[in-house]
Amino acid sequence: MNARYSKSKALFARASEVIPGGIYGHSSPVMTVPGEFPYFASKAKGCRYWDVDGHEYIDLMCGYGPIYLGYQNEEVNEAASKVQRDGDCFNHPTEYSVQLAEKLTELVDIADWAVFGKNGSDMTSWAVRVAREQTGRKRIAMASHAYHGIAPWCVPGFGGVIAEDRSTFDKFYWNDPDSLDELMASSGEKLAAIIITPFHHPAFGDSVLPTPEFVAAINRIRNEYGILLIIDDVRCGFRLSLGGSHRVFGYEPDLICFSKAIANGYSLSACVGRSSLKVAASKTFLTGSFWNSASSLAAALKTIEIAERDNVVEALEERGNRLIEGMLELGQKRELPLQSSGPAAIPYIRVADDHSFHKQQALCAAAAEKGLFLHPHHNWFLSAAHTEPEIDEALQRFDLALSAVQREQVCAL
Ligand code: PMP
Repeated sequence: MNARYSKSKALFARASEVIPGGIYGHSSPVMTVPGEFPYFASKAKGCRYWDVDGHEYIDLMCGYGPIYLGYQNEEVNEAASKVQRDGDCFNHPTEYSVQLAEKLTELVDIADWAVFGKNGSDMTSWAVRVAREQTGRKRIAMASHAYHGIAPWCVPGFGGVIAEDRSTFDKFYWNDPDSLDELMASSGEKLAAIIITPFHHPAFGDSVLPTPEFVAAINRIRNEYGILLIIDDVRCGFRLSLGGSHRVFGYEPDLICFSKAIANGYSLSACVGRSSLKVAASKTFLTGSFWNSASSLAAALKTIEIAERDNVVEALEERGNRLIEGMLELGQKRELPLQSSGPAAIPYIRVADDHSFHKQQALCAAAAEKGLFLHPHHNWFLSAAHTEPEIDEALQRFDLALSAVQREQVCAL
């Protein structure tokens, strides 16, 4: 273990005594490079955070997506804490639920109603149930290697999962209309819904935007077979368009799930849908002890207000392009060719032709040492707090990381 992370390591040892795995899920050290990355955070502001060892990072993961305007955005925090002073968890919902539902139905073209939960998984699983309720059909189609959350039907791996949990789910391949047509030939009449992310972002893989042919095939199948289209916009939502990422690519969804960016780090998810599904939605039981929390809803209202006021979507694209161009150029200069995939606001840059990801891991570990937090195997996220000077500072740190990797390569010869 790198001595730089000694407090992270000590805390992880303590955590491992009392928490299964020490740190679980996407934050687990095994998801990055154990020993070469920080494990625990202590504080954050803007586009930066500090680990428990006191190191500061420009963060290109944004809490894996939720940090959209920047950490500790004062306007959002003030809106949330003002509401909290009057109480957060009641017997009833508050007016904020209604206000946010009104706002989402105004923003998202297909949305005639909205419901709220806490995590993306709450909404993707509920949307699947709404589709079954509406169509009276059992089966659901999803893309191979897509991530939709931790419910048994979609969770990666098999821990605690039984075959029956997945027996009504069919897979097709991303950007492969033939695999969709094959599936339609066998199961078209039995499918309640197709659930897809706006673009494909598998872990340990490049992001893949949908081809126009794929989008057309999805829309055609939806119309031909009466299959509902669920867009899982949990990861991309609000970064590509405030009106839903389907608008960027041309999908015609029936239900859309949001979370992550919606409330700038406050826990909230939402599902919106067409009026034709309102009755089915009202029959599909949905609840959670904390789901009416007023502060998260107020945080979302403020987040969206700021996003509209400050043209955040455009800013993210501009700065994402600056980051991508800068990194690719530096890679050329340091003779470590890099490749970029995915939209500028949710980019993923990695060492080209590095099938084992070893060079990529070394590069991201070196970046962490230089104060730039990048993920080796998962797409990255930009926030509005990544201003031009901060992108440029990130590029300087990235160059230091590239130069360290270059030196190591020379030494290894
Ligand atoms: N869908 C997608 C596309 C996601 O990226 C995620 C979270 N990474 C989820 C669903 C699940 O969201 P959550 O972790 O909030 O349950």
